[in-house]
Amino acid sequence: VDGLQFVALLLLFEKGRSYTGEESAELHIPGNPLLARMTLEELYVAGAKPAEPGEFTARAFFNGRLDLTGAEAVAATIAASNQRELDAARRLGAGELADRVRPIMDHLTETLALVEAGIDFSEEDISFISQDEVRRNARDTVASLRQLLADTARFERLAHEPLVVLCGRPNAGKSTLLNTLAGRQRAIVSPVAGTTRDLLTAEVTLMRGTVRLLDTAGLEEIDGDDPIAHQMHQRALRAIEQADVLLLLQEAGDRQPPPPLSRQPDLVVRTKCDMAPAADADLAISALTGEGVDRLREQLDELAFGAAGDETLALNTRHIRQIEQAMAELEELASAGEMNEELVAEHLRLAVDALGEITGMVSTDDLLGRIFSSFCIGK
Ligand code: GDP
Repeated sequence: VDGLQFVALLLLFEKGRSYTGEESAELHIPGNPLLARMTLEELYVAGAKPAEPGEFTARAFFNGRLDLTGAEAVAATIAASNQRELDAARRLGAGELADRVRPIMDHLTETLALVEAGIDFSEEDISFISQDEVRRNARDTVASLRQLLADTARFERLAHEPLVVLCGRPNAGKSTLLNTLAGRQRAIVSPVAGTTRDLLTAEVTLMRGTVRLLDTAGLEEIDGDDPIAHQMHQRALRAIEQADVLLLLQEAGDRQPPPPLSRQPDLVVRTKCDMAPAADADLAISALTGEGVDRLREQLDELAFGAAGDETLALNTRHIRQIEQAMAELEELASAGEMNEELVAEHLRLAVDALGEITGMVSTDDLLGRIFSSFCIGK
C-alpha cells in the first residue's frame, strides 16, 4: 500500500465453504485504522465495492446458508447489549423459533390440503374434513401460538434497559443505597427527612446487564400547598407504575406498616441492619457495613433479567406481527359458523402464509429488503 510494507494474512474460501456460500477471500492486516483505510482505497481502485448493510447475510440467505430467522439472529447478536439478549439471539440462530413454528405450520398446511381436496371433489359431494374439525384445529393452533408469545414476553422487556425503582419512607436509606449500588456519589444524602428533592437515577451494572435505578423521593410529601412537592409526588407514583422491578426499603427498626403502594413490591429490603435486627424481610442490608449488598445485586439481576437458565426466544416485532396476523385469521375462522369452503381455505392459507414469512418459507422481496436493510454494518 503506497510504498508501505507490512505482513498480511490472506484466507481463501472455496465456493460452499464461506459464510455467504460464495467463493471469498479475507484479508487480515495489522489493527491500524489508517492502514485499513489505505488498504480499502487500494481495493476500491482495483474494482472492489463496499458491502451494503446486511449484504453478507443477505447473500448467505439467498444461497440457502441461513433461513430468515437465522439472518435476524445475526442482527440480534450484533445489537445485543447484555448476556441475556445474546443468549436469546443464539437460540434464534439455533433455529428454535423455526423449530417451534414449523410443526404448527405443518398441521395447518395439512388441514388446508384436506379442505382444498374437498373443494376439488365438491361435485361428488366428498368431504375430507368437517368444518367442525377445521374449527377445532384452528382453536388448537391459536392456543399454541398464544403459548409461543407467552414464552417470549420477557424479551420485550429487554428492548429497553430494565427500570428498578426504590421506594420507601423518607430516611429509609434510598439515596444511600443508590449511591452504594452505583458506586459513586450521585444523590445528596442528608439525615434530615425529605431532603432529597428530585428523582435521582443512576445506571447500575449487574452480572448480566445494566439497569436504571431510580430513587422516588417525595412519595410521602403530600403537602397540599406546595406545588413542587405535589409534582414530585405525582412523578414518584408514575415511576412506581412504570417500574420493571419495584424495591421497597424499610428501616430495620421501623415497626410501622409499609407506606401504601399501588402495586406489590417485587422485593422488600430492610435497611440499616447494622443498627437494629431485621425481621420479616426478603433481605437485610447495611449500606454502612456492606452486609447483604452483594446478595441484593444478585436478586436484582434475577428480577431484571430473569432466573438463570430461564429460556427466552428473541422474537422481534416482525415475528410477533406475523404470529398475531395468523391468530387473527384463525380466530375468525374458529368463531364463525358454517361458511363457504373457499372462504375456509382462504383463512387457512392466509394464516399459513403469515407463519411462513417468519422463517422465509414464504417471502416477498419487500420483506427481505426490510430485514437486510436493518443491519447497521456490512455484515
Ligand atoms: P432516603 O431519604 O430514603 O433517601 O434516605 P438517605 O439515603 O438519605 O439516608 C437517611 C440517613 O440514613 C442518612 O443519614 C444516612 O447516612 C443513613 N443511612 C443510610 N443507610 C444506612 C445504613 O446502612 N446504616 C446506617 N447506620 N445509616 C444509614
